[in-house]
Amino acid sequence: MIESPNHKNVPAGVAGSAGSTGAVISWSQARQPMIYAILFVAGAVALGVYHHPVAAGIVGFLGAIVLVGGLTKRRGPCPVCGSTLEVAPGPNWCARCHDYMFFAVKRITRMKPNWVCDSPDLLLPVGLLKGPSEWQWPLPGRCAVCTDEAKRTETLAFTASLIQYRFEVPHCRRHSRGVEYEKGVLKFRSYSYWRAFRDQNAGTYEWGDELGRVVIQGIVRQIDSRR
Ligand SMILES: [Zn+2]
Ligand SMILES: [Zn+2]
Repeated sequence: MIESPNHKNVPAGVAGSAGSTGAVISWSQARQPMIYAILFVAGAVALGVYHHPVAAGIVGFLGAIVLVGGLTKRRGPCPVCGSTLEVAPGPNWCARCHDYMFFAVKRITRMKPNWVCDSPDLLLPVGLLKGPSEWQWPLPGRCAVCTDEAKRTETLAFTASLIQYRFEVPHCRRHSRGVEYEKGVLKFRSYSYWRAFRDQNAGTYEWGDELGRVVIQGIVRQIDSRR
């Protein structure tokens, strides 16, 4: 077999199969854990020298965990837009696509459509959406986590730019925390629900616009009631 002289320059993952790309170790992310790991190992050796074998074992074990954690972080091209992603196992955000990709066992793929997180970890900045007063909620009457028939709701309430918002998010009896809000970001458990919400409510949102519109609507309502 004749190897191409510049085969090392071929970007990882360009020939990826089934819409996936390969990922290599991200040294920028792995550097810090490696430094900590070296410090842990040095600590373990020092403890061993001073006859503390149990402590040395614990510190050495911690060092190994930190090292493995650092080496599971990798870097590779987004399978959709090709921009470089620093990935850790599980869902990873692409800032250019505004979508999640999935990383496992050296490969980055498009997110699994039925992926559900244990807690609301899938983020959707409100700035990528229409104003909250215009939001449409996907699948009315269906659980925001599993899409089964909803039996109850959970209140999602927040105040932004002086406006109070309150939504009742449907849930089945088995699931909770389907949608939460924190500092201008909505957080979801279900990727399919996250995606449906993003697509139905895509827009750009300026807090000032929303405030202005609500104030104008209030004035119009007052004028109407005086007629
Ligand atoms: Zn992308
Ligand atoms: Zn459910």
